Amino acid sequence: MKGKIMTYQSTNPFNGKLVEGFEEINAGEYETKLAAAQTCFETWRHKSYAERAVIIAKASKLLHEQADAFAKIMTSEMGKRIGEARGEVEFSSRILAYYAENAERFLAPVKLNPTVGEAHMESSPIGVIFGVEPWNFPYYQLARIAGPHLMAGNTLVVKHAGIVPQCALAFEKLLLDAGAPAGLYTNLFISHHQSDKVVDDPRIKGVCLTGSVAAGRSIAARAGKNLKVSSMELGGSDAFIVLDDADLDLTIPWAVWGRMYNTGQTCCAAKRFIVVDSIADKFIERFQAALTALKAGDPMDEKTTLGPLSSEAALVQLLKQVETAVTKGAKLLMGGKRIDRAGSYMEPSILTDIKPGNPAFRDEFFGPVALFFRVKDEDAAIALANDSDFGLGGSVWTRDVARGKRVASKVETGMMFINNIDWSDAELPFGGIKDSGYGRELGDMGIQQFVNKKLVRVATMHAPA
Ligand code: NAP
Repeated sequence: MKGKIMTYQSTNPFNGKLVEGFEEINAGEYETKLAAAQTCFETWRHKSYAERAVIIAKASKLLHEQADAFAKIMTSEMGKRIGEARGEVEFSSRILAYYAENAERFLAPVKLNPTVGEAHMESSPIGVIFGVEPWNFPYYQLARIAGPHLMAGNTLVVKHAGIVPQCALAFEKLLLDAGAPAGLYTNLFISHHQSDKVVDDPRIKGVCLTGSVAAGRSIAARAGKNLKVSSMELGGSDAFIVLDDADLDLTIPWAVWGRMYNTGQTCCAAKRFIVVDSIADKFIERFQAALTALKAGDPMDEKTTLGPLSSEAALVQLLKQVETAVTKGAKLLMGGKRIDRAGSYMEPSILTDIKPGNPAFRDEFFGPVALFFRVKDEDAAIALANDSDFGLGGSVWTRDVARGKRVASKVETGMMFINNIDWSDAELPFGGIKDSGYGRELGDMGIQQFVNKKLVRVATMHAPA
């Protein structure tokens, strides 16, 4: 380990071993990095899309070629099972490739039709963007901002989460290896206090954060004070609505995947299972059996079906949440305890009988804990789904797709999925409403987030008298 201030620590949650710590940067280093990002913007903004695409596409290619090495860093830092980690790396590579290829189309001038003269909207980059990112998708989160925003002509400085410093460095190196000029993409090892200073810095023109509601409130308030455009991708407590005509052979594997992928640490994971009474017994019996079959093991082992949580702190917090839920009247149908082995492992768990007033009714459970609710019918399912401070995503399970669409329209979230929870695609927008934040990442909406949409109007006419 080197240095003194070790906010950035790489610890393997499989065995609790500290691998490496990194110092926060000092004021001089900060100034050098921000100046480089600003200088780079002055040339990068004038590059053609084709010139930008050479670098972003090369980064995509390198990521694909080195997928295994990138995945292993992630697995050893935050415990994602190796197959899932490889999948995330490949997806990140596809995102970079997609924006290298499609950014120009998204940002092409759009002709308008005024009654007098002619007009169009054109898009131009706005400057250095500050990203604050979470550990749960250590590369996807970075690709999700780097692909669109760099292709749009902005430059990026990024504060990654304290527990994934090696992933942060690996991604920065990826861009440099792909030929990125100094300052195009810059990792910042900084404290929360220093983050505030970055938001205040006049060279920063936009701020995007993915993380908890608390972090969002803090950074969004700071951005607001500085009148800087921002996007917030925050937590969620997505409903998984099972209607009476659901095909359980299709639904159960998705229920397990939706709750357990990434050991349950996904913003848009299925967290509240809202099941219509007539099918609830069959659903819960099969769901419980499937969760019971998961086996804890080394996340580097392809055969492992249950990995550790990202850190000991995350495990302790989740255990406490379950304990509080039970104290306040919820029942544990299964699980609820840490697994008796080295590392930060928790039993797959199901909580039932969660009444309004119990903190579990409103809180996000970021790990392998499913909240189960039995409701009398479709309307009750929608009402319960909407009784949430969050509004990120959700899903509906039914053999009748028209019915599924009707229900989806009534659920107040940023994203709804019918008979799948295939959450994210390079070309589709991602994001939520209410406490889940605002703005979108990816897709047409995502790439427009930090560009100046300028109206240009041509009409030669006399000024009004
Ligand atoms: P977190 O504690 O909020 O951390 C996210 C990032 O914000 C980290 O880089 C963290 O730095 C930083 N941060 C936290 N408080 C800050 C502050 N006051 N000032 C400046 N930076 C601050 O969240 P997490 O536990 O890592 O991630 C899990 C949360 O993210 C969950 O709520 C999850 O639902 C949400 N999430 C949302 C999405 C989405 O797209 N909507 C996607 C993934 C995750 P440090 O690590 O140094 O504290």
